[in-house]
Amino acid sequence: MTAPAMPSIRPFTEIVERFDESVPCEQLTGCDQDADWHIQYHSCSDVLLCDAHFKGWAEEVTAKCLLGAVRCCHCSGIFPSLDSLFKAWPI
Ligand SMILES: [Zn+2]
Ligand SMILES: [Zn+2]
Repeated sequence: MTAPAMPSIRPFTEIVERFDESVPCEQLTGCDQDADWHIQYHSCSDVLLCDAHFKGWAEEVTAKCLLGAVRCCHCSGIFPSLDSLFKAWPI
């Protein structure tokens, strides 16, 4: 059994340097929009998404959470609520 590949982690200084630039949406299936939202998964990962992909993602995790718990798609950890899984704020 092999360990899952860890997502690459950007240095914080690099993120700060890019504050004034538009950054691309990081939707895994591909997207050519600029990112509008910064999502931070507890302490395991950060993702930048455009408005459309953020809304789709939010609906998906909200629906999953109604089933009783929500799973982090990065580390597979189980969380009791959306608040404990992630924070999101507009860029
Ligand atoms: Zn997008
Ligand atoms: Zn995680």
